[in-house]
Amino acid sequence: MSATTQHHELPTATILGYPRIGPRRELKKAVESHWAGRTTEAELEQAAAELRRRTLTHLRDLGLAVEDSSIPLDFSYYDQVHDVAVALGVVPERFADLRAADGTIDLAGYFTLARGEGDRVPLEMTKWLDSNYHYLVPEIGPATAISYAGSRRVQEVREAADLGITGRPVLIGPVTLLLLAKAADGSPEDFSPLDRLDDVVAAYAALLADLRSAGASWVQLDEPALTSDTWATPTAEVASAVARAYGVLASAPVGAASDDGDAARPAILVTAGYGSLGDAVDPLLAAGVEAIALDLVKGAVPATRAPDGGARDFSHVALVGGVVDGHNVWRTDLDRAAGRLEELGALGAAATGVTTSTSLFHVPHTVADEAGNPELPAAVAGWLAFADEKVGEVLALAAGPDGAAEVFAASRAVVADRAAAPGVRRGQVRERAAGLPASAFTREAYAERQAAQDAVLDLPALPTTTIGSFPQTGELRRARAELRAGTLDEAAYAEAMRAEVARVIALQEELGLDVLVHGEPERNDMVQYFAENLDGFAVTQHGWVQSYGSRCTRPSILWGDVSRPAPITVPWATYASSLTSAPVKGMLTGPVTILAWSFVRDDQGLGETANQVALALRDEIADLEAAGIGIIQVDEPALRELLPLRRADHEAYLDWSVASFRLATSGVGVTTQIHTHLCYSEFEEVFGAIDGLDADVTSIEAARSRMEILPAVAEAGFERGIGPGVYDIHSPRVPSQEEVVELLRGALTSVGPRTLWVNPDCGLKTRGYDETTRSLTNLVAAAREVRGSL
Ligand code: GLN
Ligand code: ZN
Repeated sequence: MSATTQHHELPTATILGYPRIGPRRELKKAVESHWAGRTTEAELEQAAAELRRRTLTHLRDLGLAVEDSSIPLDFSYYDQVHDVAVALGVVPERFADLRAADGTIDLAGYFTLARGEGDRVPLEMTKWLDSNYHYLVPEIGPATAISYAGSRRVQEVREAADLGITGRPVLIGPVTLLLLAKAADGSPEDFSPLDRLDDVVAAYAALLADLRSAGASWVQLDEPALTSDTWATPTAEVASAVARAYGVLASAPVGAASDDGDAARPAILVTAGYGSLGDAVDPLLAAGVEAIALDLVKGAVPATRAPDGGARDFSHVALVGGVVDGHNVWRTDLDRAAGRLEELGALGAAATGVTTSTSLFHVPHTVADEAGNPELPAAVAGWLAFADEKVGEVLALAAGPDGAAEVFAASRAVVADRAAAPGVRRGQVRERAAGLPASAFTREAYAERQAAQDAVLDLPALPTTTIGSFPQTGELRRARAELRAGTLDEAAYAEAMRAEVARVIALQEELGLDVLVHGEPERNDMVQYFAENLDGFAVTQHGWVQSYGSRCTRPSILWGDVSRPAPITVPWATYASSLTSAPVKGMLTGPVTILAWSFVRDDQGLGETANQVALALRDEIADLEAAGIGIIQVDEPALRELLPLRRADHEAYLDWSVASFRLATSGVGVTTQIHTHLCYSEFEEVFGAIDGLDADVTSIEAARSRMEILPAVAEAGFERGIGPGVYDIHSPRVPSQEEVVELLRGALTSVGPRTLWVNPDCGLKTRGYDETTRSLTNLVAAAREVRGSL
C-alpha cells in the first residue's frame, strides 16, 4: 500500500446508508410540526441533531468501527438529491430569490423549493431508480448559477468527530446529479444538464476540500445512475462524463484528517447501487478513485476484461462488495454472499470490503420492533433482516465463516427453515399456476367487446367517472385507529364505512357522474388492504420507510404462496351498487403494483409471484362479475416503476408484468368492461405494455402535461377507451369548467368521442370534500357542454 493510502484504511465493513426518518418517525414529526408553525427553526435543528447523534451512537453500538470511516453520514431533511443541488446553489429561475448573494440557500428556502409556495410550483418529484422512493428533480439550464456555497455535511463531520467517530459523508455524485436533473424551462432544445459537468465538478472539488478540512478521511459519492442505460444520453457520453468528472476530482491530492493543505480531499468511494456497473467501471478505474462499491445483489462482479479485450487492472483500487440487500428485507444467505466476496477478491484489488447493495433507507429500522406483532408470524419474523440486522450481517461477513461461525450457522438454519416452512410453497397454488392454458391470458377481440359493452352499459359519449377513492376524512381515519385500538368493534367499524359508501354514492348521483365508485373508505392503503386480505402476506407495525420528504409507507411483506381465502371487495361493491341505478365500478389493485409496493420473496422470479397474485385477483373479479358488477378497474400505477434499469431487461419484464395483468382480468365475459389506471406521465416508455394490458379503458395522469400525450397515443393506433386526467389531484386547486372544456376539445382532435373518458388524474383520497365537490361539478358540466356540441 502506498504512503498516502495508508492514511485511509478502507472501511472493511460498512453500510452505504441508514434509514433517516428515525425508528419512530421522529424526523417526520419534527419537520411537520415545524412546517405547521408549531416549532421554530432552531427547535427543528435541535431535534434533527439529536436524531443524528442517536443514529451515530446506535451504529457504533451495533459494531461499526468508529475510526475508519465505516459509519456513513447521510442525514437529510427531505431528499439526498435536493441536498446536493442546494449545496451547489442550484435553484430554478422562479425561485431565484431563495439564493443569497453568496450562493447559499437557507433551510426555509430548502423547504420552499421542495414544497412550493403560492403560485410557485415546487420542484418536480419523481421515482428514484427502480424504487418507490421519490427524489426532487433539480432544474438546470445553461445559465443556472452553480457554485459551492457550503454543505450541511461539513457540520455533520464535525458533530461525528465530537462523538469520537470518523464519519464518512455521503453525497450524490456529480454524474448522477446531472443525469437525474432536468433541463430548466427555456433551455435550448439541444441542451442537456450534463453540459454543465465542468461547473458542477468544480463545485464538488470545493465541497470535497471543505469536507477534508472538517476531518473527513473518506467521502462516498453515490452514482447509481451508472447502473442504468435508459437515459437520453448515450452510454458512451455517460462514460466520458464519468472519466472527466472523476479525473478532475481524483487529481487533487488525498489528505488525511491530520494533514494540512487546502487542495487536499478525502479518499473517494464511488458507489453504484441498484444494478450492475457494467462497463462504467472502466472510466472509474482510469480516473483513479480510491474505492468502488458494487451492488452484488442485483449486479455482477466485474469481468476481468474490458470490452476492448484488455485486462482490467484493479490493483490500485479497493473494491467493496455490496452483498447484503439494501432494498429488501430477507436475511442474507451468508455462505452465498461470502462466495460472491471471494469472486470479488479474485480480481486482485488493492483491498476489499463488505457492504450493502444500496443504502438501507429502503428498509425499516429493526425487526426487534415487531415483537408481539400478531400480523407477523414468528417464523416469518425470523427470516427478516431490517437495517440493524443487516449491519450485523455485514459485520459477520467481514469476520468470515470462521470468525463468525455462529452467525453463519444461524444463516444456514434460516435458509433451510424458510425453504421448508408451511405456506412458502403450497401445492394447490402451484398446480393452478403451472397448468394455465394460453386462453387464460386472452379475451375476445376488442371490437367485439366494445359492441357488447356499449349495448349493455349504454353510456353517453365522454362518460364521466373518478379513479376510485374519495376523500379519506379525519373521521374515517379515526374509526380505523379505534378499530386497531379495540375501542370500536368490527361491526361498528363496518357500519361506519357503509355509511360513508352511502354518502359517496349519493354525492356522485347528485354530481351527475356516469360511472360511480364506492369510494374506498375501508382501505388504509391500496396495497396493504389487499395484503391484509390475502394469504402469503404479513404486515408490520413499525416498518415505515421513507417514500418522499416526510412521507412514509409501511410496505407489506409477501413471504409465501398467495391465495385468496375469501372475497375481499365484493360486499363493498355490491352494497354500493344496491344504492343506485347507475353502474358502479369495482376497484382492485393490480399484481404488478402489489409487488412493487411490498417487500417480495426473493426465492423465485417476480413473474411467478405476480401470477399467483393475479390468480387471486382473477377469483375476486369473477365474484364481482357474478354479483352484477359490470365494470371493474384494476389499478397498475407502478407498472412504470418496476421497469428495469437496463434496456436489455425490458422485454422480459414487460412480458411477465403484462401477462400477470391479463391473467387477472381475462376471465370475464365479453360484456364486462375492464378499466386500468396508471398514474405517471412517462406514458411513452411503457406504451407497448399499456397496449398489451388490453384493458377496455385506461385512465392516465395527464393534467400537468396538458394532455400532450394524446397525439402520440392516437398515432400509435391505440383504439380502446382512454381517460387522460383533466385535473391534477395533487393540489387543492379547483379547475374551471372552461379549462376542462378546452382540454376536452383539444383531446377530441386526437381521439374520438366514443373513446374519450372524463376523469381526474388519480384518486381523491388526499383531497378535501369542498374542493372535490367543486372540481367534480365543473368536470361534469364541462363533459356535458362538450357532449352537447358534438
Ligand atoms: N383507485 C386508487 C385510488 O383512487 C388509485 C390510486 C393510485 O393510482 N395511486 O386511490
Ligand atoms: Zn393514480
